[in-house]
Formats: sequence, C-alpha cells, structure tokens
Amino acid sequence: MRVFVASIATETNTFSPVYTDLSDFRETFYHPPGTHPDQPSLCSAPFIACRDLVPGAGGTLIEGTAAWAEPAGLVNQQAWETLRDEVLDQVTAALPLDAVVLGLHGAMVARGCDDCEGELLERIRAIVGPETVIGASYDPHSHFSERRRRNADISITFKEFPHVDTMERACDLVRLTVAAVRGEVRPVTSVFDCRMIDVMPTTAEPMRAYVDRIVERERAPGILSISVVHGFMAGDVPDMGAKIIVVTDDAPTRGNDLARELGMELFGLRGSTRMTVLDPEAALDQVDETAGHEPVVIADIWDNPGGGVAGDSTVLLRRLLARGIDRAAVGLIWDPVAVRLCFAAGEGTRINLRFGGKSGPDCGDPVDGEVEVVRLVPDAIQRFNNTWARAGDIAAIRIGGVDVLLATIRLQIYSTDLFEAAGVDMRDRRVVVVKSTNHFRRAFEPIASKILYVDSGAPYPSDPRKTAYRKLSRALWPIVEHPHGCA
Ligand SMILES: [Zn+2]
Repeated sequence: MRVFVASIATETNTFSPVYTDLSDFRETFYHPPGTHPDQPSLCSAPFIACRDLVPGAGGTLIEGTAAWAEPAGLVNQQAWETLRDEVLDQVTAALPLDAVVLGLHGAMVARGCDDCEGELLERIRAIVGPETVIGASYDPHSHFSERRRRNADISITFKEFPHVDTMERACDLVRLTVAAVRGEVRPVTSVFDCRMIDVMPTTAEPMRAYVDRIVERERAPGILSISVVHGFMAGDVPDMGAKIIVVTDDAPTRGNDLARELGMELFGLRGSTRMTVLDPEAALDQVDETAGHEPVVIADIWDNPGGGVAGDSTVLLRRLLARGIDRAAVGLIWDPVAVRLCFAAGEGTRINLRFGGKSGPDCGDPVDGEVEVVRLVPDAIQRFNNTWARAGDIAAIRIGGVDVLLATIRLQIYSTDLFEAAGVDMRDRRVVVVKSTNHFRRAFEPIASKILYVDSGAPYPSDPRKTAYRKLSRALWPIVEHPHGCA
C-alpha cells in the first residue's frame, strides 16, 4: 500500500486588507518533503497520523509538502499556483498510489480561485485516477463544495471549536482511508446544506450536546463519519455556510437522510449558539467590580488574527489606558516595525514609541507614548493543545499600568505561553486581554476569575446581515429569515 500525504492550508478572510503571499507560508509553517516536525500543526496532523498508522498497516508513506499561513486576506495567485503545482508534481512523482491523504483548512481563497481545495482535489483525482482513495481533513470554519465531495472519498472536519481534536480526527481520516484501500469499507459521502451561518463554539450549550449526539450517531453500524462544517462568514465564496457531511459505508440514501435530519436540527439551533458578547465599557466595568488576584480574561473576539484580520486594533487598549486600569496585560498586537524598534533599543530602556492601529480605520488610532521595553523574546513558540506555532519575535512593553505584547507575526493567543515567556505573571493581573475568539479558552480557564467576550467594533465581518457578499450563491439565515422555504 502506497500512501501520499500533503498539507496546504490557510483560512482566507476575503474582506481583510492583509494579503497573503508565499513568504507568509514560508515564515509561518513551510516544510518540504521529509522535514515535517514530530509535532502536528493545526492542519498537518494527518502527517503524524500517517506516520503512526501507515507503516503498521504494512504501507509505505510518501510525504509531500506541508504549508500553513496564518489566516489573512486573499492569497495571491502565484503563491497558490506555486504551492498547488509543488504538491501535484509530488503526487505525479509518487505514482502509483493507493491513497492520498490531505490536511486542508477548507477556507483558502486565492485571486482567481474561490475554491482552492476543490481545485487541488480535482487535479489530484485527474492524476491518480478513480481507484485511488482520497481522504481530506478540514477545519470546520470552511466551505464545502460539490467539487470537493465529487473528488474525495472521505471528508472529515474537526468536531470541536476550540479545535482540540485535530489529532483524533486525523487518525479517523487515516484509519478510514486505509480501510477503504483494503476494501473493508466503501465510503460514500452525503452532504446537506443547512442554509445558515453562525458562530458555534462547542464548549457551551446548545452545541456541546449537539456534538455529543453526533458522536453517538457515528457509532451506528454503516456510519463511518459525521462532520459539521460550521462555515466561515468572512469568506465571500459561493459555498459559504454550514453543511453536514455524512460518510456511510455504501449507503447513500441513509447518509442523505441522516445529513438532512442533523442539518435541520442544527438549523433549529440558529441564533442560540453564539457566546454572550459585551461592549468594551460594560466589560471593563466588570473588571472594576472584581476584587481578588485572579484576572478577568477578556477576549477581543473580532480582532482575532485567527479570523484573518490584522490583530492590531488599539480600541480596547485605549479604553484600558483611559480608565487608568493598572495590572493589565494585552496580547498580541501585531506591529513588526515597533518590535524591531524595541529590539534595537534593548531591554530596560524607555523609548517613545508609536504602535498598533495601522491596518485600517476600524482598528483605532496608533498609540503614542513613552514605553518601557520590559522583555524581548526572540523566536517565541506558542502551544495549542498538542500542536505548536512559531510566534516570531515578541516585545513586551509597559505603558501606564498595561503590559502589551507586540508581535512580528500575526498570531492569535492560544495559551499563556507568550505571556509567561514575556515575564507577565498572571496571578497578580486584574485583567488580561487576548486577541482570540475561543481557542484561548481551555488554557485560560484555570487562571481566570471570569471570562468575557467583547465586541470592540474591530474589523471582522461578524454580522452577515451587514456584510456585502457578492459571490454567495444561496439564501442563508440570518441574511434571510426562511432560507428553506416558508416557516
Ligand atoms: Zn477554525
């Protein structure tokens, strides 16, 4: 059995002014064949699952390229075609193949290509032929097209948001792919279009119980896999929106029925899955009211680089400074120029610095002031569950009563690693602001007195009713009230 694995992944916010080039992949996560590290990244977990499972199944693993760029705006056409052709050449060189396993994100959009993953799968199918088993894993914040269904045998998304189950899903994918090569199962994929888009964290009800029910339904004989595509509302593409994927063992009618049942159940949860979101002043009022030594952790959810925005909004920081809140910490604010100036000045210096607020008018003005350069951390690393991410050079500065982590690389806060590396002691903080939507949660829960989600009006297009979609091809809730027909 000859199995090829590769990964090309990013999440494209088509409304973001921060465009994506090959250098963004090379700087963030780029590993040519044979150089993928032992730890998985978010979308390259199938590499590790293949290394664990393929040799034991008597197979030979051929590794291709793994590339990931932090979510941002449109990928330029040359960058996409270079990565695509690199992997297609590797597939051709590896023939004959029994299986191709791909770690994808599913929301990658390039100039001139609205469905990068669909195009990649279609071209790989053309190279390997109809008999080779193709399996792909996706982030649930993705788009699922008919082109992808047609050209892959198995499609699986992470079930959890935060995505703490990347390795489990990668193992599911590789086990199913191997079973299909051996002829033990004949995977057939059913898809239901839920005609909705929302934010659906699985750490809270009603999504927690919904995902648990799906796991239960997956145990039924003949059901190989069930996935929920949450959709990604910052991607203006024809297929944006939530979908259910059911992979059965050659039982398409049953798969279609189950996908519809689960899809309409999800549609019934529309509008009830988002976290409660406060405005900045209401959140900071709660900081004022909270005594004790554990910090209030505030997620600045719509300035999360994980959603493709710049991550340099100063709106919340400015409110902290204006209210004179001390023992505060904020991370990360993206400003490579400011980081470079801090590194040049050195630890312990006091300098006049302008930082943040440069990517657009929604992000607040840059902050100007005399700051203390508290700590410089070259080549920082941040863990997320059992994956890790390069965080580049970090400069910790102090302005007023606030420690601010400035970053060279756009990256959301996944864990407390970067604050700790910068010498910020969480135990004596009143408030810690993180630029993340929900992935921070598991790491910060143990140290937080409470966790608040804040909408500081920053640039992510968080209300689909107000977003000017031009390519979206179907009626979706909440843009229309009854996309499935009359109530
Ligand atoms: Zn995601």
